[in-house]
Amino acid sequence: KLHNTIQELKGNIRVFCRIRPLLGDELLGNDGVINHMNFPDMDGKVLEMDKLSDMSVNESVLNSTKGGRAVSKYEFSFDRVFQPESSQADVFEEISQLVQSALDGYNVCIFAYGQTGSGKTFTMEGSLQSDETLGMIPRAVRQIFSSALHLQQKGWKYTFQAAMLEIYNETIRDLLGKGKEEKHEIKMCGKGDSDVYVSGLTVVDVTSEDKVLNLLRKATENRAVAETKCNERSSRSHSVFQLRLTGENSITGESCKGILNLVDLAGSERVKDSGSEGQRLIEAQNINKSLSNLGNVIMALGNKDKHVPYRNSKLTYLLQNSLGGNSKTLMFVNVSPKEECFGESLNSLRFATKVN
Ligand code: ADP
Ligand code: MG
Repeated sequence: KLHNTIQELKGNIRVFCRIRPLLGDELLGNDGVINHMNFPDMDGKVLEMDKLSDMSVNESVLNSTKGGRAVSKYEFSFDRVFQPESSQADVFEEISQLVQSALDGYNVCIFAYGQTGSGKTFTMEGSLQSDETLGMIPRAVRQIFSSALHLQQKGWKYTFQAAMLEIYNETIRDLLGKGKEEKHEIKMCGKGDSDVYVSGLTVVDVTSEDKVLNLLRKATENRAVAETKCNERSSRSHSVFQLRLTGENSITGESCKGILNLVDLAGSERVKDSGSEGQRLIEAQNINKSLSNLGNVIMALGNKDKHVPYRNSKLTYLLQNSLGGNSKTLMFVNVSPKEECFGESLNSLRFATKVN
């Protein structure tokens, strides 16, 4: 109930920030303390970051000192801030209502934004090795299948179709395909071009969580194969998991259609143009373009602009009927706690603040 009220007040866009823990060797020399991040409020909505400045206190216009050195403070607030110790279950709890609304016929988009290594894939997919580490995709499908089972008692019968694709350099690749490369195009169909589909894309009827887990494994394999041909490809591509839900009620005659999109975005790190050339430069420009266009689309929707630039990138073109209108959007901004990532973290948090 409370969530619904917040949603109505804020429109249909929410932003959650997630700080991953320090891992392995990162803990060495840091004593496991993430000392530039503070979580000052009780509600878990504010993240504060301190930057020790190399400037002497006298020279700076900054607002406090730590051990005689100047400190700049940056404060961000989001709908939720998840601290490093938050579990996958903790995070899912906060999105479960949103996931549920796909069964009521909403189109839902959940994005993970952040630099490479900040925890996007961990959040979305997680590690399939253990139940605790399962990410949002497997948890979402588990909840949807179990809710659909309950809804049968009220006369609802649902069917589910899953697809997975990657957008790399503004080109779509089928992650569940048989391996032969095919050209995939975004097409419109339905009444007044109301639906978007991708030509030649593998769409799989799914009925169980296990089936979806197998699809995720297959997609991971497919990505790994492509990665050997192009180093670090996965961090330079957007990967989209799409579940289409169709429900019919045999008692009331009602029907509904929803789509759940979970998107692991390309790494948001700035690529220095100077060092890169040719293919690498084109890639970097395409990533920057599509991430900033995603931001522009979300902002245009938030501002209720007449023109929303969906067609400026493949990602927003593909997701246009799941962004805006009768749809719900959530963005995770994933942040690394490493001190050396401070600059990129700041960029990510600023991006997320802009769209919120
Ligand atoms: P990205 O997809 O943004 O590049 P990853 O999800 O691959 O980043 O995360 C980088 C590393 O950190 C991986 O080894 C991942 O397992 C680990 N990791 C990320 N978030 C967490 C977390 N919340 N808890 C434990 N390990 C995490
Ligand atoms: Mg990743």
